[in-house]
Amino acid sequence: MASLEIKNLHVEVEDEEKKTKKEILKGVNLQMQTGEIHAIMGPNGTGKSTLSQTIMGQANYHVTKGDILLNGQSILDWPVDERARQGLFLAMQYPAEIKGVTNAEFLRSAINSRRPENDQISVMDFLKELDHNLDLLDMSQSMAERYLNEGFSGGEKKRNEILQLLMIKPSFALLDEIDSGLDIDALKVVSKGVNSMRDDNFCALIITHYQRLLNYIKPDVVHVMMGGKIVKSGSSELAVKLENEGYAGLRDELGLDV
Ligand code: ADP
Ligand code: MG
Ligand code: MG
Repeated sequence: MASLEIKNLHVEVEDEEKKTKKEILKGVNLQMQTGEIHAIMGPNGTGKSTLSQTIMGQANYHVTKGDILLNGQSILDWPVDERARQGLFLAMQYPAEIKGVTNAEFLRSAINSRRPENDQISVMDFLKELDHNLDLLDMSQSMAERYLNEGFSGGEKKRNEILQLLMIKPSFALLDEIDSGLDIDALKVVSKGVNSMRDDNFCALIITHYQRLLNYIKPDVVHVMMGGKIVKSGSSELAVKLENEGYAGLRDELGLDV
């Protein structure tokens, strides 16, 4: 079992144009373990994407206080690719396009970067798994041989992110607004993919504005983020309540002025 713990995390973001820094995360606490699915909901601009970018180690997001622990070890000094090798995954982290690299080549090298030198995946095993997952996601075989993200439609990109998830098999997947812009059929396919990952070696943090996605992927824990903090956590019922009463209702209930 693996754990990912966010402790009193404070993060400043650099505004490159204004040359200023702004504190976005103001003491986030979050504990996740493989075997669990967590969801974070919250109004726009409250720091949800900042949290996922910071966990993945993107530049411009500066931790000023607190820690991020993977299996008890601080990862704050690790670069993005090391975090990926150690099992963290952020769908959006992957480059929009890599010239001259096919989708399949990219996936195989991403898988192998997580495996020891003497235990690389065989071409046969790789292709078998790729076939299986393309089927599961209703993707055509030709998607594998196309150049990564080149000319992919919005829907194809989303499915491809889920294909990456299924192939790379991270321990902790940060899924930031994977439902945005999807029609109901695509939403079902994406949900089926994430649900097929559910097991003791996998944890997902699903970030979403809307409760709709959570009808398809049932979270064990729902967190609400407002003003750069997790202000409430609960069962999946919390998402339903939020959908009905809105964030204003929760603000009043908690006496928040954010
Ligand atoms: P959410 O995902 O909850 O909508 P974000 O984390 O995207 O919120 O943004 C939180 C705040 O941080 C916003 O005010 C946003 O403008 C600011 N912010 C986020 N990333 C950057 C960045 N790279 N440069 C400047 N400001 C940023
Ligand atoms: Mg946003
Ligand atoms: Mg966001």
